[in-house]
This record gives sequence, C-alpha cells and structure tokens, in this order.
Amino acid sequence: MKNKFRCDFCGIETDWVARVAIAPSYNRMYSEPKYACRACHEKKEHERETSIRKPPSPPPPQQA
Ligand SMILES: [Zn+2]
Repeated sequence: MKNKFRCDFCGIETDWVARVAIAPSYNRMYSEPKYACRACHEKKEHERETSIRKPPSPPPPQQA
C-alpha cells in the first residue's frame, strides 16, 4: 500500500505530514504546497515560537 508523502524539508518519506502554512514573504512559492514530516513540523513550530520571542539582535560591537 503506497500512501506515503514526502517531506519537502528533509526529503524523507512519511505517513504523517503537516501542510505548512506559507508566510506572506514566501509568495513566490505560494503555488507549491509544502509538506513537513512530524519532526520538521515540530521543528518549524519551535523555530517560529523562538523567532517570535527572540528579541532583536543587538548591533555588533564596534571596535575603534
Ligand atoms: Zn522532514
């Protein structure tokens, strides 16, 4: 029974995929559906959370 999907992020075949919501900045790839395996999906979710909570990076120290 072939009912597998392929993760668009790591490329493995998996029975479980999540359709990844595409951000407005990814308009170019809007027509291409993105699927993530469980691991990549959780990773993406985690990255999104951390990127939201992460404060803006401070400017690099200037050496005179
Ligand atoms: Zn994956």
